[in-house]
Amino acid sequence: MEKTILIKYGELTTKKGNRGTFIKLLARNINSILNGLDYKLKYDRVRMYIEAADTNEVVNRLQKIFGIHSIVISYKVNNNIDELHNLLKEILKQEKFNTFKVETNRADKSFPIPSMEFSRQIGGFILKNFSCKVDVHNPEIRVNIEIRNNSFYVSLNEIKGIGGYPVGVQGKSLLMLSGGIDSPVAGYLALKRGIDIDCMYFESPPHTSLEAKNKVLKLASIINAYSGNIRVHVVPFTKLQEEIYKNVRDEYVITIMRRMMYRIASRFVQENHMHAIINGESVGQVASQTLTSMSVINSVTNLPIIRPVACLDKLEIIDIANKIGTYETSILPYEDCCTIFLPKHPVINPEQSKCLFEESKFSFDNLIDECINNIETITITNKEKNELL
Ligand code: ATP
Ligand code: MG
Repeated sequence: MEKTILIKYGELTTKKGNRGTFIKLLARNINSILNGLDYKLKYDRVRMYIEAADTNEVVNRLQKIFGIHSIVISYKVNNNIDELHNLLKEILKQEKFNTFKVETNRADKSFPIPSMEFSRQIGGFILKNFSCKVDVHNPEIRVNIEIRNNSFYVSLNEIKGIGGYPVGVQGKSLLMLSGGIDSPVAGYLALKRGIDIDCMYFESPPHTSLEAKNKVLKLASIINAYSGNIRVHVVPFTKLQEEIYKNVRDEYVITIMRRMMYRIASRFVQENHMHAIINGESVGQVASQTLTSMSVINSVTNLPIIRPVACLDKLEIIDIANKIGTYETSILPYEDCCTIFLPKHPVINPEQSKCLFEESKFSFDNLIDECINNIETITITNKEKNELL
């Protein structure tokens, strides 16, 4: 018996002009995520085909790759009825089902039994060997049999992929990744639309701990399962942050701090030929995320700022965090640089002119240079991923 995993492409089928690029990127991403496993990948314009030593592990990983609409495991045996019966017994005993339907497609017209009749015979065999019923309208399991090239190809239900676009079709952008619940979800949603991401984390030791940094690396390694290729740029933010607290009036420290983060992220994006900044801001969630705050903070850059969770409720964000496996890590209680020295009354409707006034009280250009020049870049590889998880 031969086993092949068939992959049907997702949304990319609607983008005819870019099809070739989409498929190549998808193949690259699959190779990256299956790295370390024993498998062979082939593809054409309609499907991909994988033969693998460990089908289950490959299918698990494929279910995290954007650009895949569905996955089908196809079994091939010689067109010998005993071999077909044995195969059906073996694969159906691993399934839980009460109802089924057999569908036959006879591509090889020299095969002597017509499709309908063959489906009926195979249905009879299944009824004899398993306690179940036929349901032609809404079966729990469809047994698909294709007869061609002197062989039977058998497959059961399709396994749903996660859809979206292959990561990388939109080039690369920078995710501001904190240890919270929102930004990993924002990263996941950006990847889903085909945006490849690098992450940037602002740390302020000794005010923030090594555990806080490791938590961010762990979150990056969890979303790396959807990307296969993530780097985290850690910005030493302590000096700049201390200068802000020394010079800026209390209500404005968060606004100014976030403007500094945006300035650093923007410069990094431009110097590294990326396209946009992605973050986990959600409208109205905290003082710095009112629309007036966002507008004043946003005004330090011309880059597009993508906020994938901007209009989601916290509970909706938590649902996604649970689904992608980041929630439990996100709620570990380590302080982020945004939560240390939090002012009692952060301004809710900051003004641009007041920001400029506060920023004129100290010289920050050289501090920004220092942050950028001392970035530590950590690449999440499969090996590091295993150690972190
Ligand atoms: P999260 O749950 O993602 O931490 P939050 O609701 O706590 O978000 P803020 O702390 O105001 O919100 O931060 C808003 C966004 O700014 C975050 O989602 C993240 O994208 C970015 N951000 C905040 N702190 C940092 C940091 N230390 N390093 C990198 N990005 C950060
Ligand atoms: Mg946060």
